[in-house]
Amino acid sequence: MHNRLAILYELQLIDDQLDELEELRGDLPLAVNELKSRISSIQANIKEKEDLKNELLEKRKNNDEEIERLNDNLKKFKSQLYQVRNNKEYDALTKEIDHTEEKIVQLEDENKESENMIEKLKMEIEELLPQVEELEAEIKVKEEELKKIIKANEREELKLNKEREKVAGQIRKSDYNTYMRVRKALRGKAIATISRGACTGCHNVVPPQRQIEIKANKRLYTCESCGRLLVSPEIAEEVEKKLNV
Ligand SMILES: [Zn+2]
Repeated sequence: MHNRLAILYELQLIDDQLDELEELRGDLPLAVNELKSRISSIQANIKEKEDLKNELLEKRKNNDEEIERLNDNLKKFKSQLYQVRNNKEYDALTKEIDHTEEKIVQLEDENKESENMIEKLKMEIEELLPQVEELEAEIKVKEEELKKIIKANEREELKLNKEREKVAGQIRKSDYNTYMRVRKALRGKAIATISRGACTGCHNVVPPQRQIEIKANKRLYTCESCGRLLVSPEIAEEVEKKLNV
């Protein structure tokens, strides 16, 4: 049991060092992710405007073709005016002409509206594009910074990860799962020891009877206040000495 507790504490000490390295990166990884999501939302916005712009361009093109066709018709109707044989035919033809002219005006109005909208969209897109560039430049700076920090600690981290793997391999699966569960729940240290009668994790007093039980190193105890696993100060000291931390 003694070894079972010691190896868990050893894992904690290695994770402490890995956590410290992680901390050096600060909120850089988070900041990079946030910038990336801002960029994709702006890009989605740009795409929406581009799509709408293209739709309007297509509509304008179709309208232009329709106007051309209607103008041809108009020419035909007007030349037919000279060949009408009675009032009825004349009325029918002028009605056609009026109707065609109205339709042309309507299509031209639509085109004007589209044109305004297209210009507006173009301007909006042009305003958004530099924002993307700016954010991309910001990301580049932060990523460079992050790379530098990671590079500086690369060897240390690799070494610690190897050690961690070795140590984790010696831990019972159930203990490892408990350790990881507490570590995840508390977002940090999963194991504490006792110093001056208190849990080193949360500084709450550990009842004297419980302290005696923990010192016996006979089983895995949990701090009733914070939920961390508790090992005796003797084990903590022994492992710290072994790892030289
Ligand atoms: Zn505690």
